[in-house]
Amino acid sequence: MTKYNIHEVDKILDLAQEIGVKRVVFFNFIPVGRGRENLEIDLSPEEREDFLRHVYKEMKRRKMEIISTAPQYGRVVNQLSGGEDVSPTHFVVANDPITRELTEFIGGCGAGRVYAAIEPEGTVTPCVFLPYPVGNLRTKSFWDIWMDPFMENFRDRDRLEGFCGRCPYKLICGGCRARAYNYFGDVLAPDPGCIYNSAEWRKLQEDVLKIKVKVSPLVFK
Ligand code: SF4
Repeated sequence: MTKYNIHEVDKILDLAQEIGVKRVVFFNFIPVGRGRENLEIDLSPEEREDFLRHVYKEMKRRKMEIISTAPQYGRVVNQLSGGEDVSPTHFVVANDPITRELTEFIGGCGAGRVYAAIEPEGTVTPCVFLPYPVGNLRTKSFWDIWMDPFMENFRDRDRLEGFCGRCPYKLICGGCRARAYNYFGDVLAPDPGCIYNSAEWRKLQEDVLKIKVKVSPLVFK
């Protein structure tokens, strides 16, 4: 979801309903590659919050499964359902005691916790959107890479910095670690896409703007 298509959410859902889709997954914007310098296409924390709240309500109204890979969706689902519904991974919204229990272990960002990515030449990264090479399958087993001490950064949410580290929802959300890495170069930094981290978002906007002005003074004439 970006600023380019946020206004099309209802149309996408109408189409999905019309053709009998069972589950719609809205992918979060992750600033890989040139994403950081194109910050203006990312949703603000307020826009993301409104969007997540809206799609949860639409899920109830339309009686179809609607999910987002934004880990804050876990928090929004919890808050709007009074703790009844849970969205533990990026692929399900459930309402049963077992999934509710599991959510505190597998909830929110799954990078290095419930999945990893393998690049064509064997490099393993914690997530497809997190280009941090943890090891290579040509020289190490997947198990050894999976158990690398760096991966503990994703599993121990007490390590998180900023409000993410103090947040009561960190076990079911934890913020998108790929967004933290690509925006701040630190997998433990706060996810600036969350309404609770609006101050980080504003600071990021200022930083990116300064770089743009420096690189191309004509852009902001
Ligand atoms: S502050 Fe961090 S952990 Fe808490 S809801 Fe926001 S992104 Fe998730």
